[in-house]
Amino acid sequence: MMAVEFGDADILKEKILGIVSKCVRCRFCFSQCPVYEVSDKWVVQGASGITQSLYYGIKLNKIDEILRDILMRCTTCRSCEILCERIMAAVSLVDAIRMGRALLFEEGINPIREQQKALESLQVFGNPYGMPTSKRTAWAEGRGLKKLADPTDNISTLYYVGCTPSYDSRVQAVAGSIATVLQKGDISFGILENEKCSGDPALVMGELGLFQMLAEQNLNQFKHMNIQTIIATSPHDLNCFLKYYPQGIKTIELKHYTEFFADLVEQKRVPIRKVSKKRVTYHDPCYLGKHNQIYEAPRKILEAIPGIELVEMERNRQNSLCCGGGGGRMWADFEEKEHLAEIRVLEALETGAEVLATACPFCLINFEDAVKVLDKEDTIMVKDIAEILLEAMHS
Ligand code: SF4
Ligand code: SF4
Repeated sequence: MMAVEFGDADILKEKILGIVSKCVRCRFCFSQCPVYEVSDKWVVQGASGITQSLYYGIKLNKIDEILRDILMRCTTCRSCEILCERIMAAVSLVDAIRMGRALLFEEGINPIREQQKALESLQVFGNPYGMPTSKRTAWAEGRGLKKLADPTDNISTLYYVGCTPSYDSRVQAVAGSIATVLQKGDISFGILENEKCSGDPALVMGELGLFQMLAEQNLNQFKHMNIQTIIATSPHDLNCFLKYYPQGIKTIELKHYTEFFADLVEQKRVPIRKVSKKRVTYHDPCYLGKHNQIYEAPRKILEAIPGIELVEMERNRQNSLCCGGGGGRMWADFEEKEHLAEIRVLEALETGAEVLATACPFCLINFEDAVKVLDKEDTIMVKDIAEILLEAMHS
């Protein structure tokens, strides 16, 4: 488990320099960087350019808004790290960038305005959208779900919904599908009556104090309720629980819903029927695949559905292109010559797929927007794996 680097600016600087100094400046990683692919190259010279900006920012004592605008462009997709591991340098670029954002915060440089607003909402409402806490479980009304509020509820499996699936009208349908599959699989589970954000937006935008507060509150709640297993909708929340929560989380089994469902499917605990013939391509969300090596579970679910032909995009698994939504970029707009999500939808169209499947709320939102912008709504649909599985259970 990676630790969150609390501490003052000097400690952060020392840690960042320690990481970045391992770079042998081969500059291979820029070729893998999605931000490089869509930016004016001189603005952000790819992964090595971003980390070198950070290195010289520290060395020359220029921790300012210019450095912030460079660091915040990173989607934290991890493509650069994977390439760097291949050439044996294994520089932890994403950690350095994340710490760089925390350093900005320590030095009094706020994130970009929209990101700042999201962090303020997180502090006040427990979600980055500024939505009332009382509406968090509105999506679950009428679904017969157990809302856990007390240890005497005696349910040890928690479906951790997350902020975007709780409040975004499109992604609420995904939360509904996940809950229904769990019900049909006869799983004894509940959702929290008082669920809060995992803290991931604060972690990736550098507000470590807020992250720590949310992590401690959540972990205390999980422990108080005797939770043994957590099934998460979002790969971002899962990653945050797995790698950045306090040690106490280690006693809880943490799973993405695609892992849980792949087991249900394999054990034939959910009925799957033939669906009408369709071509489906699957986009690997960065925080599921590149960060947590969960590549096969979503594919196993799709492959188990008769009628679905799974076709791969040229860039898949470790080489998958980021949708552009990670690293706090759901709350920031950058001028870029192309949108990553649109490039990815075009790649999906090249396969002849009628459905672009994914397993992350941010990817789903970004791809649906991209399909509309490209005016391809009649050609391709964007669906979550949970929705596709549930449809196959109904047909
Ligand atoms: S691939 Fe690794 S060693 Fe090469 S420039 Fe990038 S970070 Fe440095
Ligand atoms: S994590 Fe992704 S976006 Fe960020 S520097 Fe590395 S390759 Fe580029």
